[in-house]
Amino acid sequence: MKTIEHWINGSPTPNSGTATDTQPVFNPATGAERARVVLGGADDVDAAVTAASAAFETWSESSLTQRTQVMFAFRQLLVEHEEELGRIISAEHGKTVDDARGEITRGREVVEFACGLGDVLKGSFSDQVSRGVDVHNFRQPLGVVAGITPFNFPAMVPLWMHPIAIATGNTFILKPSERDPSAANFVAELYKNAGLPDGVFNVVHGGKDTVDAILTHPGIEAVSFVGSTPIAKYVHQRATAHGKRVQALGGAKNHAVVLPDADLEFAANHIIAGAYGSAGERCMAVSVAVAVGEAADGLVKVLERKAREVKVGPGDRPGTDMGPLVTKAAQERVESAVGTAAAQGATVVVDGRSLKVDGHEDGFFTGPSLLDHVTTAMDAYREELFGPVLAIIRVDSLDQAIGLINANPYGNGTALFTASGEAARRFQRGVKVGMIGINVPVPVPMSYYSFGGWKDSLIGDSPVHGPDGIRFYTRPKVVTTRWPQPAQEHSAGFDFPTSS
Ligand code: NAD
Repeated sequence: MKTIEHWINGSPTPNSGTATDTQPVFNPATGAERARVVLGGADDVDAAVTAASAAFETWSESSLTQRTQVMFAFRQLLVEHEEELGRIISAEHGKTVDDARGEITRGREVVEFACGLGDVLKGSFSDQVSRGVDVHNFRQPLGVVAGITPFNFPAMVPLWMHPIAIATGNTFILKPSERDPSAANFVAELYKNAGLPDGVFNVVHGGKDTVDAILTHPGIEAVSFVGSTPIAKYVHQRATAHGKRVQALGGAKNHAVVLPDADLEFAANHIIAGAYGSAGERCMAVSVAVAVGEAADGLVKVLERKAREVKVGPGDRPGTDMGPLVTKAAQERVESAVGTAAAQGATVVVDGRSLKVDGHEDGFFTGPSLLDHVTTAMDAYREELFGPVLAIIRVDSLDQAIGLINANPYGNGTALFTASGEAARRFQRGVKVGMIGINVPVPVPMSYYSFGGWKDSLIGDSPVHGPDGIRFYTRPKVVTTRWPQPAQEHSAGFDFPTSS
């Protein structure tokens, strides 16, 4: 049985101290254990911080050109190894290989953004703010920074963080999900092959103990977190209490509103893909369809037909639309939620619970479930199910739909399907949500914008990547300069300095 080790100072590293535990990593399509991952403790985090601190001394002094050259080489390796990395992700997460390649592509776009660092890191200069005085500003890296990431995008979510952190001159420690840890080590090797000096990118595996060691380590300047809301709140509170800069992205409940003037076939196609793609294990998955007025009956009919057509199977089988859930526990949780919804009065239009995949009887599969007549009081609406369950809520007007979305504690993504520009404008101005799609179901921003929700979907105030990513991983300096001429008056006033 393979053991997945940490990656510290440029090579695989076993547990260094008192922590000797390992945890199984499963192939969700077969239910079989495929490897064990080490669970690091404070000693392992400390070893990574020591390596990263030493590397920071030289990496933070490297030129913009040196750093972007590594990023260009790293990007090329991500292109060349996309299929291989996609298969690694699929084998531990369960998503289809094509879906995994999609997440690598979207993550690679952040590397491409980091390749343009020379432009985005430019400071500004003000000439002659006072007689003989100029002002300019520039930004410097923080030091050793850490990223703690969820299972659902084992390549893309870390890629939201480390290319920007590293390109801006920081050194990085990644604590990936213990459920699908292999992608992190594969990426570490790609960085090494791209010419990144040892110690600049490190991986420490583990669970809560490892996270706690990161949140409290005095050698770590900043923590980026993506995961569920309760843990995001915990990480934000604990790490800020230890003086760290924190960005913490949480869970979601994303609504897709369908107006009667929408093309129902088009809307249903996109809602089905947004709800059941990656088995609903996306923070931007469509989990609630809000049918407005007379759109409802027609929409439910088309959604039912399309939900029944979703091909469920192992992620490496060509033609599969949707793979298994990540763990047996996730499968049981989602299936129990469908049962609870029925008991609470929802109509189970499509029931995914009975699904069996031939030859994969022990896999963690559940089929697409479609629930109609869901109300805001039901658990299926109130909880983030993080599985292939689409709830339909019926309302009478667009304003009611906007009110429903705004009353929800989450505010990650939302979409409106309509042919009306006026409705679209009202919707995008009115919803308290960070990322909005107009006839686009999963509106994940491009890498040169920043990604982040509102309310319980983002704790603190910093979205990830794009301009906010640059700001997060750097500190500004403002320099006021005077070069006196020899013949100039040298006296200085005692009053607070003002310009003249
Ligand atoms: P999770 O919160 O269980 O785990 C995230 C990370 O926190 C993992 O590295 C895990 O090891 C660690 N962790 C788990 N429990 C911990 C604890 N008690 N103390 C300290 N650390 C702990 O999330 P997950 O199940 O891996 O991922 C799914 C969640 O992530 C969903 O809620 C989803 O919406 C969210 N997510 C959000 C975004 C976003 O951009 N907002 C993106 C992807 C995923």
